Amino acid sequence: MRKRSIALMLCLLAGAASVVHGQAATMAPPVSASAQATAQAPALPRVRLVATGGTISNRRGGRLTADEIVASVPALAEVADVEAEQFANVASSQLTLEQWLDIARRIEQLFREDPQLAGVVVTSGTDTLEELAYFLHLTVRDRRPVVVTGSMRNPSQVGYEGQANLLASVRVAADAGAAGRGVLVVLNDEINGARDVTKTDALRLHTFASRTFGALGVVDTDRVVFRRTAEGRHTTASEFDVAAITALPRVDVFMVYQGAPGDLLKAAIDFGAKGLVIATAGAGATSGTQGEGFAYAREKGVPVVATTRTGSGRIAGPRRPAGPGAAAPQDPPGMAPRIAAGDLSAVKARILLMLALTKTSDSADLQRMFSEY
Ligand code: GLU
Repeated sequence: MRKRSIALMLCLLAGAASVVHGQAATMAPPVSASAQATAQAPALPRVRLVATGGTISNRRGGRLTADEIVASVPALAEVADVEAEQFANVASSQLTLEQWLDIARRIEQLFREDPQLAGVVVTSGTDTLEELAYFLHLTVRDRRPVVVTGSMRNPSQVGYEGQANLLASVRVAADAGAAGRGVLVVLNDEINGARDVTKTDALRLHTFASRTFGALGVVDTDRVVFRRTAEGRHTTASEFDVAAITALPRVDVFMVYQGAPGDLLKAAIDFGAKGLVIATAGAGATSGTQGEGFAYAREKGVPVVATTRTGSGRIAGPRRPAGPGAAAPQDPPGMAPRIAAGDLSAVKARILLMLALTKTSDSADLQRMFSEY
């Protein structure tokens, strides 16, 4: 009897406590089990995955969705709280320039709306991955890391490395040390900067490399290691605002080869190109009748940017006048006009020129941009 009344009293007390709790709950949200768990262990960094497709999702019989890719890597849950969204599910070369603008705007929106978001990972096909990465490097105005990744083998192949690349990329995006370094490309446990990285091999897994200057860091089992900082203006220091850009102007890329005809350059201009990029031989040489194409470009006020087809090395800037009052020396015959892209590859020079032309067509200002970015 006594035991029972004690039990009853305990029940009543518990009931009263729950009423008090209930009242309190109307003032503050109840503490959930997961919130209590978070109070004990520090919350994992939040990383957003924006999937665009590519070999990393190109499973035989049906492409993997963003959620399926995340679900296929349980180890992600140990390093970050990953939420995924499907932007597209196509090969990288199938993305349009309008979609590039949309991806940049979407990433800026994600950062703007979520100050606690640690970073963003973008999955992409590898073929033009370096172009998307450089475009984002010039347009996403936030210090937080944007990591672009993909894979060389698809999910149906033996040795598919997409899961390892995704895990490494999320670790980099969640790493405080990755902020302020511009857009990063992470595959094969290596971190390369978007400006300098290029796909160097059509098939090998170790295809992404930054010729001449090397990787920025590595993703090792114990931690993410950075050893360099990418130079050049990017992200928060960029003057390009995708919110204000409705379309990118047409810019075409040409290569110098023995006896190359200049009429192709003229045709591009007649078809609406607002700028040309020429991958010259060596350090600026052109061939055939390309000089006539450049003269046409000059006449039409279409800027021509010189890069090198060698795969590394610089196109030097315009030669300076010899002394005060001296006229600027002319480019010798057979050399490309000099808005010099420095060591930017032809496809990346095209991206910078497209963005630059949304602001100016003045050649001195264009040259300034090629020197700064
Ligand atoms: N390698 C292709 C790319 O760069 C991917 C192929 C595919 O996704 O269909 O996008």
